[in-house]
Amino acid sequence: MIPIPTPAILDAIRSRTSYVAESYVKLVNGAWRDLPDDEVLKDLRNRWTRELSPGWVELAGDLTKSSKERKASGEAMAKGLPLIVDTLNRLHGWVPDIRSNLWFEGLIQRIEKDVVNPVVRKSPAAQESLQRCFGKNADKAATRFPAILSKFKALHARTGKGPGMGFVYSPDLPGTMRALAHGQGETAWVEVGRRLLNNVDGDAESAAALLHEVSHTLAPGYYTIDFAYRAVNAHYLLIPELAEVNAANYEQVALDLLGGKLGLSAAELDLLRSGKGTLLEQVHALMSSRVIRAWIQAHNLYSDSKEKPLPSTSLSGLPAIPDGTEYKEVVTGLLDEFKKQMDLLINRVNKHLTLGRDSTLPGLKVVSTATDTAITLPPGWEGGRTPDQLAMALLEVVANELWPPIAAPAAIPPAYTSVQIVGYVSSVQIHETPGVRELLQQYFDSIAKPAKA
Ligand SMILES: [Zn+2]
Repeated sequence: MIPIPTPAILDAIRSRTSYVAESYVKLVNGAWRDLPDDEVLKDLRNRWTRELSPGWVELAGDLTKSSKERKASGEAMAKGLPLIVDTLNRLHGWVPDIRSNLWFEGLIQRIEKDVVNPVVRKSPAAQESLQRCFGKNADKAATRFPAILSKFKALHARTGKGPGMGFVYSPDLPGTMRALAHGQGETAWVEVGRRLLNNVDGDAESAAALLHEVSHTLAPGYYTIDFAYRAVNAHYLLIPELAEVNAANYEQVALDLLGGKLGLSAAELDLLRSGKGTLLEQVHALMSSRVIRAWIQAHNLYSDSKEKPLPSTSLSGLPAIPDGTEYKEVVTGLLDEFKKQMDLLINRVNKHLTLGRDSTLPGLKVVSTATDTAITLPPGWEGGRTPDQLAMALLEVVANELWPPIAAPAAIPPAYTSVQIVGYVSSVQIHETPGVRELLQQYFDSIAKPAKA
C-alpha cells in the first residue's frame, strides 16, 4: 500500500523539498506496475486507465522539468496525488476504515433524509413506492423504516468497538455480495464487502443494499427475511403479507426514493401481477423465489451442520444423511456439495436464464452454454397449467441442462441429481418453519390461474 499523503507530505511535495515528490513517483509507478486483475473492481480499474493514469504520466513527467518550473509542478502533484494514491490502493485491495469514513456516513444520512423522512411524512413519491412494493400492507411496512434507521445508527455507533460489532469490513465476502447481516436485535452485526466499500455500484445501490441487510437485523418478530430478490422482479409478485417481511421490497423503496434503478411502473406491475402478456416474466419470478428459499435453506443447513450434528431427515426428500456425532464432518461435506449445486442453480435462474417464445417452433428449444441457458417455448406449450406449475416444469429443464440425467459415459455425476434438486425446490415450503410455510403456500396458491398461451 502506498502511504496516504498527510498534509505535511503534501506540503513537502508542493515545495519540492527532500525529494518527497520524486519518492512518490517511484511508489505510484511501483503500484501501477503490478496492478491485480480484479473482476470486482473492473470499473475502478477502467477509471484508472482512462482518466487517471494519463494525468499521472504528466504529473510525474513534470518533475523532470527545469528548476524554474519546479514550483508549478509541485503544486500540480500535491493536488492530483491523493486521488491517485487512493485509487491505486483500492485496486490493491485496501479499503478505507468504516468508522471514520465520510462517504459511508453520508450514505446513512441520505437514507435518513431521502428515504426514511419521506416515508414518515408520507410524501407522494414515498406513498407510491410503498403502495407498489407492499400493496395493502404499505402502512404496516412504513413503520419499519424508522426502526431500520435507528438500527443503522446503532450499528454505526458500535462499529470498530470489537470483533463482530456494528459494520465490519470483510475482505472475504464474495465479490458479488455487497453486505451480509448476522443475527437480530442487540447483538446483530453486518459484514460489508469490498464491492460496497469501493462503491462499485454507485451511492443509491450501495445505500439500498445496506438498508436491505440492516432490515434483517431488526428485533425478533420484526426483522425481514428473503423470499424473493430484485432479480427478475420476483419481489413484486409476493402477496402483501410476504412483501411486508421481504427485505428486497424495502430495498426497492430505498432505490425508488434515492433515484437509483427505478422499479416497475404501475402499468408494468399490473401486467406482471396479472400475468397478462408477461406470463413468462411471472413464471421466471416464481422460479426465482422458489429457488431463493431452497438456496437459503441449503446455506443455513450447511452452517448448522458445522455447529451441531443434524438429524438424518434434514434433507427430507433427498437421500438420508448419516446420523450421529461421528459423522458431523461427513454431513458438512455433503451439505457443502448440496449448497454448491444450489449456488449454481440460483445463479443460472436469477442471472443467466432467458425465456422466450417462437410461434414457428414445433417443440421446446433449449440452448445452453457453460454460463447461460435460453429456453424458447413453442405455441401452446403452457397447456392450461398454472404459472407455478410452469415454473416447476421450466426449472426441471434448467436443472437437466446443469446436471444432465444421462451424462457422458466418463462424466462424474453430481452429488444430487437434477430430479432430486428440483424435487427439493418444488416442495421447498415443507422445510420452512410453520408460520413461513403457511405464508409461502398462500403465495404459491395466489398465482394459480391457468396460464394463457
Ligand atoms: Zn437478504
